[in-house]
Amino acid sequence: MARLGSWIESHPEGIYVRPADAWIDPSRPKAKALITHGHADHASGGHDAVLATAETLAIMETRYGPQPRGQAVAYDETSRVGDVDVRFVPAGHVLGSAQIVLEYKGERVVVSGDYKRRPDPTCACFVPVPCDIFITEATFGLPVFRHPDTGSEIDRLLHRLHSDPSRCVLVGAYALGKAQRIITELRARGHHDPIYFHGAIERLNQLYESFGVELGELRPVADASKADMAGHIVIAPPGALNDRWSRRLPDPVTAMASGWMRIRQRARQQNVELPLIISDHADWDELTQTIRELEPTEVWITHGREEALKHWCMTHQIKACELNLVGYEDEDD
Ligand SMILES: [Zn+2]
Ligand SMILES: [Zn+2]
Repeated sequence: MARLGSWIESHPEGIYVRPADAWIDPSRPKAKALITHGHADHASGGHDAVLATAETLAIMETRYGPQPRGQAVAYDETSRVGDVDVRFVPAGHVLGSAQIVLEYKGERVVVSGDYKRRPDPTCACFVPVPCDIFITEATFGLPVFRHPDTGSEIDRLLHRLHSDPSRCVLVGAYALGKAQRIITELRARGHHDPIYFHGAIERLNQLYESFGVELGELRPVADASKADMAGHIVIAPPGALNDRWSRRLPDPVTAMASGWMRIRQRARQQNVELPLIISDHADWDELTQTIRELEPTEVWITHGREEALKHWCMTHQIKACELNLVGYEDEDD
């Protein structure tokens, strides 16, 4: 009998599903691409045909222009691609993010894409799908990565904001997903003041709102004075934190929302005064609990610190290997 998953090929530029003649999250233009979510390291431009959720297609359109051969798939709907049944199910990572479930000749393979298990008000929750092979990310695949409760991190942010009304708190957050999540988490903690934003996140804020994610009152930094912004939260992409741009803000307390803020040295390097450990990726416990829950025969690991997770799988009698895909960045942590 053929090796489990022998119909799936791992290449540096992505995962090739042979009987579907399609690639998952390829980093180079392909004839047919199945895209898990809109982050640039997964959704590159230039493919002929694209299968993705409507939200992911919309994100790709804001980045790369019209996707004339984009086919929107709803969560849980099964499409036949070549000889393979393909189903997108929520991954809980960002708006529209999906795991891709592949079924062929009685084998089921789940490609997680990026995912997390904790609730996120901006997207549908991860749905566990038991499978023969689980192809998982491992961005935070080390036991040191344990993300604290999100609400308590948001409370630390609000506490800092209220402790000095003459200053603002500038939060570095990735433009796709993290920025909108921080805003909705703030609203959920009862913070209804206007939140100021850097121009680079405006289009994605609008896109989230067009899909029904309510962000409350937002104001562009470009139209505001220092006095307006004192005592308020300002959200900007991480690259703006130490940029000339931040000089227009009233004595900002620099914060950063990322799973990497667990590493103090990383916070120090980026001159972050208020590190907030808020991640859109599974932490160590979420990774291992998910594998326990899915009970796959094999785990294939991509995207990060594979070694520790591979070892964990082996000590739990699960066959595991690493896939060496290139082009995945830390840009969406
Ligand atoms: Zn991502
Ligand atoms: Zn990623």
